[in-house]
Amino acid sequence: MAAKSFKYVIVGGGVSAGYAAREFAKQGVKPGELAIISKEAVAPYERPALSKAYLFPESPARLPGFHVCVGSGGERLLPEWYKEKGIELILSTEIVKADLAVKTLISAAGETFNYQILIIATGSSVIRLTDFGVQGADAKNIYYLREIDDADKLIEAIKAKKNGKVVIVGGGYIGLELSAVMKINNLDVSMVYPEPWCMPRLFTADIAAFYEGFYKTKGIQIIKGTVAVGFTADSNGEVKEVKLKDGRVLEADIVVVGVGGRPLTTLFKGQVEEEKGGIKTDSFFKTSVPNVYAVGDVATFPLKLYKELRRVEHVDHSRKSAEQAVKAIKASEEGKTIEEYDYLPFFYSRSFDLSWQFYGDNVGDTVIFGDNNPETPKPKFGSYWIKDGKVFGAFLEGGTPEENKAIAKVARVQPPVENLDVLSKEGLSFACKI
Ligand code: FAD
Repeated sequence: MAAKSFKYVIVGGGVSAGYAAREFAKQGVKPGELAIISKEAVAPYERPALSKAYLFPESPARLPGFHVCVGSGGERLLPEWYKEKGIELILSTEIVKADLAVKTLISAAGETFNYQILIIATGSSVIRLTDFGVQGADAKNIYYLREIDDADKLIEAIKAKKNGKVVIVGGGYIGLELSAVMKINNLDVSMVYPEPWCMPRLFTADIAAFYEGFYKTKGIQIIKGTVAVGFTADSNGEVKEVKLKDGRVLEADIVVVGVGGRPLTTLFKGQVEEEKGGIKTDSFFKTSVPNVYAVGDVATFPLKLYKELRRVEHVDHSRKSAEQAVKAIKASEEGKTIEEYDYLPFFYSRSFDLSWQFYGDNVGDTVIFGDNNPETPKPKFGSYWIKDGKVFGAFLEGGTPEENKAIAKVARVQPPVENLDVLSKEGLSFACKI
């Protein structure tokens, strides 16, 4: 097979790849210069939709509706757009070997791709219970969610197991969003997680108490402080029960596991410097290898605001890092420089009719403000994180766009705080006056 050669290759066809393609087009890429090689069969799309509207029983989101860049209010890049721009979308193609020294990639089907500049945008893969040898974890109807194919399998299971029982393993954002959407699909939902409260990496006990209370009012059973240690299956090999470490046994027709992800860096192991589990980059997403960039979930980059290297597995950063890398590539071709990446961490989630946003860093002391009673019809509450006498992070449930902008600003500006009680009483108005 003859090798295909491109000036720029993006390996991975997810969120970052799509936003990078748009930036390349803005900067004037020539037809035939850029290729995106993706394991998935479809053009880049807004991955967060998969655990939200994609699984709705009524009027679900479907492609082409959520191709990038609609998630940030931008133009929707349909497959035709790539054609028009002369950007080659090489889909259903998994790269199984990368040789950065000779600048080639090899696919599972044995095709060779040469590049001058490579952008690594392989994202993350899910951690599977089979990775830890959990007994029975290979039973049918145990699902994970990362790509659109996974979501399609889940939809089939929801249809096949109408009004059945679902056990969600994991209390992170996938667990919370999946529990909600399964309930909306009229399934009987239980969540299991080992921590004392949900989303422990971000939520404080006060924040979590609201969501756990709210989920209970929706009829979701929450089992904390224990883990799934095994599964039993029926004679068809379909999951029937989830065995918990504390001895309890839960009936299940469907299990969805959301216990975290791992950045997909294996292809490049030993060829590029790594840090904190990701590929180490500078503020322009350049790796330790000349002409190789890494963006999105796989990149460990300098977070200027906090003066440390971080890896961020969230959609906003995947979009912005991709744009930064492409701007840097084009600038360096013209002998120019661009500003360093100066990212303000931003995470969000939506479930039922709830919606929260978080900006900044969740370090230091916390105060809660507003009404976090889960029975309140339209709850609005938030939290600030305070370190060294300054606000470092801000969280808000139920904010308007202006209020969300205000908490973003507060996390960026880091205003001083004298008295935590006063801050708690002032609540959102503190952010709104900054
Ligand atoms: P991805 O979007 O994962 O893209 C990686 C691509 O690379 C995939 O297409 C993959 O198939 C491909 N690939 C990998 N290896 C190879 C290979 N060897 N050869 C070819 N192709 C390859 N973040 C939020 O901030 N808010 C949310 O609400 C939110 N919801 C989410 C819901 C779900 C279900 C998931 C899975 C993630 C969610 N995220 C959310 C996280 C967010 O989607 C990711 O941070 C973002 O997609 C990362 O972008 P990326 O381009 O680095 O990786």
